[in-house]
Order: sequence, then C-alpha cells, then structure tokens
Amino acid sequence: MEIELLSEETINQIAAGEVVERPSHLVKELVENSLDAGATEIEIEFDQGGRFVSVKDNGCGIHEKDLQKSVLRHATSKIKTSEDIFHINSLGFRGEALASISAVSEFSIQSRRNQDSESHCLGVNFGSVKKEYKASGEVGTLVTVRSLFENIPARLKFLKSETAEHTQIKNTLRALALSHWDVGFRIRHKSKLLHYWPQKSEPLERVKEVLKQKELFYGHFGPGENGYKPGNLIEAEVYFSSPSSTSRTNKNIWVFVNGRWVQDRSLQAALMDSYRSLLMHGEYPFAVVHVQCPSEEVDVNIHPTKAQVKFRQPSDAFRAVLHATRNGLETAPWLKKDKRSVVISEQNESFQEQAFRKVQFSQKEMPRFSLQETQQALNEMEKNKNEDVKVDISLESSFSTNLESEESGSKQDAQEAEVGTWSRLQVLAQAGLTYIVCQSAEGLVIIDQHAAHERVMFERYLRDWKNKKVMIQEFLVPMAVSLEGDQLEALMSCQKELVEMGFDVDQLGPEQVTVRSAPTFMREKDIQSAIEKMGLELVELSGSHALEKVVSDLFSTMACHSVIRAGQALSREEMESLLVQMDEFPLASFCPHGRPVYVEYPFIELEKDFGRIV
Ligand code: ADP
Ligand code: MG
Repeated sequence: MEIELLSEETINQIAAGEVVERPSHLVKELVENSLDAGATEIEIEFDQGGRFVSVKDNGCGIHEKDLQKSVLRHATSKIKTSEDIFHINSLGFRGEALASISAVSEFSIQSRRNQDSESHCLGVNFGSVKKEYKASGEVGTLVTVRSLFENIPARLKFLKSETAEHTQIKNTLRALALSHWDVGFRIRHKSKLLHYWPQKSEPLERVKEVLKQKELFYGHFGPGENGYKPGNLIEAEVYFSSPSSTSRTNKNIWVFVNGRWVQDRSLQAALMDSYRSLLMHGEYPFAVVHVQCPSEEVDVNIHPTKAQVKFRQPSDAFRAVLHATRNGLETAPWLKKDKRSVVISEQNESFQEQAFRKVQFSQKEMPRFSLQETQQALNEMEKNKNEDVKVDISLESSFSTNLESEESGSKQDAQEAEVGTWSRLQVLAQAGLTYIVCQSAEGLVIIDQHAAHERVMFERYLRDWKNKKVMIQEFLVPMAVSLEGDQLEALMSCQKELVEMGFDVDQLGPEQVTVRSAPTFMREKDIQSAIEKMGLELVELSGSHALEKVVSDLFSTMACHSVIRAGQALSREEMESLLVQMDEFPLASFCPHGRPVYVEYPFIELEKDFGRIV
C-alpha cells in the first residue's frame, strides 16, 4: 500500500471531529470568537439539534483581506509563536474552529469593521469556498452554520436527540454568560427569544439571573484573606447558595479558570469539601467558582475543546477554592436575615413612649397634625396595643418618621450587635423531649436539641484542635490497637498532627500501635475504632487535605456520641445555655451530618393558616 498525504479537505474533516464533536462545541467556539473580538452584545440562534446555528456580534469585525484566511486551518490573529501558548489571554488561539466548522457545514461569515462602509461576506460549502460578496450590514460579525455534518453521515449518527443537544447548547451558553457578565446575550431557539441577559456591571447579578436564584452569597480568597500566604498565585471567588437552597445534581456548580469554563473534579471537590457537613448526602449547592491566576500557572492546551486545564500547582488551586468558599460560608450570611430580636415589651420603651416620640418628630416634620389629632393617635395606639398591632404599623406609616426611624434603627443595630442570633430567641418550651420551641419577632423557631448540640460540640472540637488546645486524657495503661501495615504507616507519618488532635500514638509492632492519650471528650470504648478509621481514611484519601477531612469526620462522629440526646428532658436554663453556645459558632444552623438544626414557622404562615390574612 502506498502512503499518501491526505487532502486538506480530509484533514479538516477529521479535525472537525475533535473541535466540533457536538453542536454545543461549535456554539462555544463561535461565541468565544465574538468575545475575543470584544463584542458587548451577542445574539445566538439555534435549531435542529444545533445543526443550524447563527452567532451575531458587535465586535471588531474582520478585514476584507483576512476573511479568506479566517477559514484556513491554523490561521489565527491571536498568537504568533508557540511561546505565546503559555501566555494566552484570548479564549481561542488554535486557529481551527472556523476551518473545522466550515469543512462540515454550509457556512457563511459576514463581517464589517467600524471603519468599513459595508460588510464583506464569504460562503463556504463543506470545505470549498463558494462565494465572496459585499453586502450592507452592521459593524460586527455574523456567522451562520447550516446542515451541520451533512457531508459526514457517520457523525450525524452520533448526534443525540434534538432535546439533548439543545440542553447542551443552553448549558454552554449559560457558562459563557456566567463568565462574561459585562456582555449582553440574546438567545433564540426557532426565532423565539429564550433568554435575554442584559449587560451587567456586577458578576453577582448575572449569576442570579442565569442560575435563577434570588439569594446568593460571596466568598473570596486572595491577598489579606484567611489562609492566603505570600507567594500564593492563585485566587478564587465563589458565589454560592445557602445550604438550605440546594440542587439534586452537581450540574449547578460552575467552575471557571481565568474565565474559561472547565470540568474540573478537583475544584468541584474543593467546593463540596468546604460545605463539608452543611449538606445532606446527595445535595449540591448552586455555585459559580472563578479561579484566577497568572496565565503561566495553568496549561489550557491539554484538551481539544479546552474543557480541562492543568495547574502547575494543583493543590494551590484546590486550596484557593476551599478557602474562598469557607471564608464565605463562615460568616453564614443567610443566618443574619433569618432572625431578629424578639420584641419583649417590658424591656423596650412602652408603647405610649414610642408613640409619643413618633408624634413629636412628626410634628416637627409635618405640622399639619393638630395637637388634638396627636392625642387621638396616642389614645388609639394605647387602646390597640395588645389587640391589633396592625394599627401601629399603619399609624407609623402615615406619620413622617424619617428622623425617628433613623434613630431607632441605630439603636436596634447596637442591640443586635450585643446579643447573638440564637440567644436572642425566646425559649417557650421543650416539645416531645426533643425540640426546643422558641419565638422570634417573625415566628416560631423549633430547634432539634441533639442536632444543635452536636453542631456546637463539633465546632468546638475543631476550634480547639486548630488552636492546639485539645484537652487530653492520659491512660495509665496504654491501649494497644491493631492495624494493617499501610494504615499503620500512614498513621505514623502523621504522628505530630495526631498529638495536636490529642492522640499520643506510637508504633508497638509491625501491625500494632499503642495509644497513650486521647481527647477527653472521647469515650474509651470509641478510641480503638477511631484510630482504625483514621488509619483507613488516611490511606484512602492520601493527599494534603486527607487529615483535615479525617479530623472533621472523626469529630463529627465523636460529637454525635457525646451530646444531648433526643428524648432527654432539658430545663429552661439548659435550653437557653444551648442557644448561647450556638452563637459561638457561625455555622450552627446545620448538624455535622448535614441535617438542619432548626425549622422556622413564620407568623405570617400561621396567620394564613388561621385565615387571618389571605
Ligand atoms: P482562533 O479563534 O483560535 O484564532 P478561529 O478559527 O476560531 O481561530 O478564528 C480564526 C480567526 O478569525 C480569529 O483568529 C479571528 O481573527 C477571526 N475571527 C473569527 N471570528 C471572529 C469574530 N466573531 N469577530 C472578529 N474576528 C473573528
Ligand atoms: Mg476561535
């Protein structure tokens, strides 16, 4: 058999299989070209499972003389030499997309630069240039792809159902919109507008829109941030949902590296790790992770569709995401708005005083209230204070209370700062020997006493461990524990860390260790299994984060054993003390196994149930 050089056409068709394996890849390439061209508005239309796609942008356009070149393989305006590959600041650089796409479709590109008076068009049918002509058209570029893969029936067969391809396309567009919030996107399917995401100045706004989440929070890891050391080159930002609004799949976790959407399991794992015990099994957050680093820290050229990247220091990237999420989660921002102080009238000003102050200020502001009217209002308020609070509200709003509300606002803030979220609740009773029933200003709050205490103990152990202050019990007679060889080895390699955790462990024989001390909170009978579990997990989870994960799992198991159980009677003081303890730790709203610590029944719900309001 003779060896022959393949024709350019065949080469392009083969390559097309890599670059545009699926229609969604094609959409990605075209939109990325628009983004690279500096577009601020992009309009995308697709149909027939992606066999029809058009992308229109208002970017810089292409010079007439470059139009032909744009569809040639390895023709790019974005890099010049292989050196440049290590400093890539554009999304594209391989010069392959247009060549590949035009080899397997009826392709046309129309473009006009700002300084041109008309636009120039080029049509390519399955790899052969058909026509070049001038047309009127706006500044920017319009690429249209029809009959994709028509000339390669084998590829056609590999396309999934229309719906599946459309889903993939929509996801790709979501990713592009998430990473380019400052660009407006219009997305059409069969000419019907599916999404219009207007330009935003804040990433958060775009994230909320695309993920359809009303409330998202933010965490950051960078200079000056918890855990950031000089020399760290990787920074991360995370937008995330509270642990109470979760998704059943990990499809709502979006990871971007230098603006590029990537499928990176390790960074996803870092995010999930930070949520550690806040989620139940099978629950995932809504989250957008942005990792930023100098371009030489990451190789984006290891995958034809650039869906994977390789970090020079993968563990730094992992840490960056872990800390960013943790920094955000630790302020437990969703708790802040959940509860406000209980209004206990004896402790506050009397209603009359309040009303009087209101009226005083109102008089200054709005002299049209006569003294008589004022007295009337006062009387009415006094009369209604126990019966119907709504009167109070309506009166308040009918007076101009600018000054007053400013003053009482700052007073309330000061009060809130002094008393914590949980201890501010008023304990009403214990129910079913398991739940603590409390009230806040907005409603009933029911706390699972076991879950709450467990969380508190868990966080306390973790804190003591981090501060190297774990209380230990020393054994008169050291305990012997048998382990398999590799587990023993793994354990002994962490001897120093074990001491910090309260375990003084030494090797006794080839498959045995002695334990001379353990944390005080551990029951003796749990120690053996704890040591075994640590050995096992250290072997399974080798890597820098293994120990923290092991500690966290271990502490959650220990916490579970050492706390108030369901079915245990608690006095009011005990219940109140638990609430105070809960305020010590910001993450107290979920138990270490991810079960919620409390549920809330807003009064407004009760009012609805009782038909007081509709
Ligand atoms: P790459 O993006 O890797 O450079 P492509 O095949 O996607 O390769 O595009 C080839 C060239 O065509 C680009 O380098 C760019 O100069 C030009 N181009 C493609 N799409 C656009 C567009 N929408 N606006 C302006 N120029 C474009
Ligand atoms: Mg490109």
